[in-house]
Amino acid sequence: MTTLIESEEHKALRSAVAALGKRYGRDYLTRTVAEGKPPTELWSEAGKLGYLGVNLPEEYGGGGGGIAELSIVLEELGAAGSPLLMLVVSPAICGTVISRFGTEDQKRQWLPGLADGTRLMAFGITEPDAGSNSHRITTTARRDGADWLLTGRKVFISGVDMADAVLIVGRTEDARTGRLKPCLFIVPTDAEGFQKHPIDMELNAAEKQFELVLDDVRLPAGALVGDDDAGLLQLFAGLNPERIMTAAFAIGMGRYALAKAVDYARDRTVWKAPIGAHQAIAHPLAQAHIDLELARLMMQKAAHLYDAGDDIGAGEAANMAKYAAGEACVRAVDQAVHTLGGNGLTREFGLASLITAARVSRIAPVSREMILNYVSHQTLGLPKSY
Ligand SMILES: Cc1cc2nc3c(=O)[nH]c(=O)nc-3n(C[C@H](O)[C@H](O)[C@H](O)COP(=O)(O)OP(=O)(O)OC[C@H]3O[C@@H](n4cnc5c(N)ncnc54)[C@H](O)[C@@H]3O)c2cc1C
Repeated sequence: MTTLIESEEHKALRSAVAALGKRYGRDYLTRTVAEGKPPTELWSEAGKLGYLGVNLPEEYGGGGGGIAELSIVLEELGAAGSPLLMLVVSPAICGTVISRFGTEDQKRQWLPGLADGTRLMAFGITEPDAGSNSHRITTTARRDGADWLLTGRKVFISGVDMADAVLIVGRTEDARTGRLKPCLFIVPTDAEGFQKHPIDMELNAAEKQFELVLDDVRLPAGALVGDDDAGLLQLFAGLNPERIMTAAFAIGMGRYALAKAVDYARDRTVWKAPIGAHQAIAHPLAQAHIDLELARLMMQKAAHLYDAGDDIGAGEAANMAKYAAGEACVRAVDQAVHTLGGNGLTREFGLASLITAARVSRIAPVSREMILNYVSHQTLGLPKSY
């Protein structure tokens, strides 16, 4: 890749993170999943090395870079077989929203810990009855003197067991229905009235998903991020990094699966030549590589636009990058499993579990169809069916 697209600093970051990833690798992830533990050791070490906060402002302990740098961190850890899903959430969404819109107190209280990994924040927008239609969220904040009381339910919230707090997207009482006028609250996971229930997912991942029940959770005025009038802008400031980071997650996983398949295809011989010599095996692997490279290019464009402050341009590019990366990842994993024949389904080779893991990037944080809707309506100007 030329320096036009990636600087020498970016390349150096890539190889340093790849070296860390290699030290942990798939074996580490397999062990933590088997033990039902979060990936604390890798998270802490990545934090100490400054990788978790590369995008956060230097004055609050971060690296002073942007989402371009953070996406490199996640992609390389994923390519080594040990992605840290909470990078999508803690520094990318929560860190970004707090550093762009938080009060001075919130920045001082949270950013240094998010940057060095000693604190972690989850993010909760999805609700059981709203799903992809976030205009329907009903988690409601009402004022009680200077405090807020927050009530509602959330589903599929990742990493709540690892988190000190969850950035919850709600709406105020006077904006209970109609178009979303969100407000964002930092809710400590030990607050009274806050309950978390793990969801039994068929996913081979160290990070778990939770259902949250918030029952009149009392929050001080200082728990509201920014103000309750500019919520949509604040929310989108976090959602674009989330999409770019999900693309990085998908590209890393796709690269990991593809590398395994290529190694296997080079050696495995059942006729005269290795199976990789048969074009029926080689071409789909080549296509998967091309698709991952193309998706990365769009991810880099989205990160570049976002870091340059172009929120609108970044919105379209981040959606397209998430779409392209999710699809490239699903196809790369599918072809990798197929390349290994029966071994593609053994625990020893560890690829079959990626089939479900890859689907996450097609569904979350915004599904393939909702991105196609976005491009149909926003980019192409076609009418809406819903
Ligand atoms: C592993 C994992 C981790 C997650 N982590 C988090 C997290 O940390 N925080 C958080 O807030 N959420 C999280 N989510 C939730 C995720 O963002 C949602 O699952 C996603 O937004 C889809 O919502 P839904 O599951 O309710 O699907 P639904 O909205 O019910 O959609 C179901 C299907 O219908 C399709 N569909 C819906 N509307 C339309 C339409 N208008 N046109 C065409 N097709 C449509 C969708 O594309 C999808 O295929 C996570 C999900 C997973 C799987």
